Amino acid sequence: MKALVYHGPGEKGWEEIPDPTIQDDKDIIVQIETTTICGSDLHILKGDTDTRTGIAIGHEGVGTIVEVGAGVKTLKVGERVVVNCMTSCGTCDYCKVGLTSKCQRCPNGDSWQLGHNISGTQAEYVRLPLGETSTFHLPEGVTDAEAVLTSDIFSTGYEIGVLAGNVSPGKSVIVIGAGPVGLAAIKTATLLSPKIIVAVDFDENRLAKAVSQFGATHAVCNNPAVNPNWQDEVRGIVGTAGADVVMEAVGIPASLEACFDLVKPGGNVANIGVHGHDVNLPMGALWTKNITITMGLVNMTTGPMMLDLIAAGVLDVKPMGTHQFKLDQMLEAYEVFGNAAKNNALKVIITK
Ligand SMILES: [Zn+2]
Ligand SMILES: [Zn+2]
Repeated sequence: MKALVYHGPGEKGWEEIPDPTIQDDKDIIVQIETTTICGSDLHILKGDTDTRTGIAIGHEGVGTIVEVGAGVKTLKVGERVVVNCMTSCGTCDYCKVGLTSKCQRCPNGDSWQLGHNISGTQAEYVRLPLGETSTFHLPEGVTDAEAVLTSDIFSTGYEIGVLAGNVSPGKSVIVIGAGPVGLAAIKTATLLSPKIIVAVDFDENRLAKAVSQFGATHAVCNNPAVNPNWQDEVRGIVGTAGADVVMEAVGIPASLEACFDLVKPGGNVANIGVHGHDVNLPMGALWTKNITITMGLVNMTTGPMMLDLIAAGVLDVKPMGTHQFKLDQMLEAYEVFGNAAKNNALKVIITK
């Protein structure tokens, strides 16, 4: 089969690799019909993660089951499923309390297996270990292009940004980084009726979309060359004390440090970004602020709810898919997504 193979920082290719085969009773094999590229895949290619070389990357996808292991009872060949970016068993101590990203059935308790430790979804076929508890049935009324956005980003924005950040009615929210996950956090924050949502980004196109299509109430450009006093502009909107909730959706030290500066006493800093470097935690200024700082990998426990909300017409995820490609245009899709600002790209939808 063809797959997007990672060969180390900066090195990738759309290449022939062996078809996946069942290796464990609980495995399933899925033919990928729709996939996408994640900001994390760009972090992998930058060398920010300890991803194995020689595997297909990608952890988001929708497809049809073509083979199941002997121990698989609840899924059948021919059924269509949404891939869960986290591999989990559903029964270990961590899974039982909803911390599925630390599943003890995964090597080293690391549920980010797909496209990290084992071949992932940017491929014609993928082997999904623990398939019954690492996929969701594709419900009626949800298209592939919508469903693939629930493999990771909408749950990540909601669980790690909105829920961990303790968004609730009437609060003020700042989201630094209006890329796909930041926009997903903005969109899902609107489900909980905060009073203000300020989108912050370098890119004016993303800021415009944050307001017109994702529910931000305000937008502020944080490009220091254009707006050196952007933090003052944000304070002018949320108040001089700062915001109740500040989310980081970039993954660089400067934007997380800005969150520490902009959070109100008693507030929450929710880190969503994938970081490749240490960040200075200014405890001298922070320790008296009574703030809560959260971070983590998504557990995907809200994936089925995201699919339900889309099917019910409550959550409109469609504006996220801005570009369409075929699988064999994978390198072109990377080119567009990798230069997202230049191409006005959010998520690229890649189909069979
Ligand atoms: Zn991802
Ligand atoms: Zn588990």
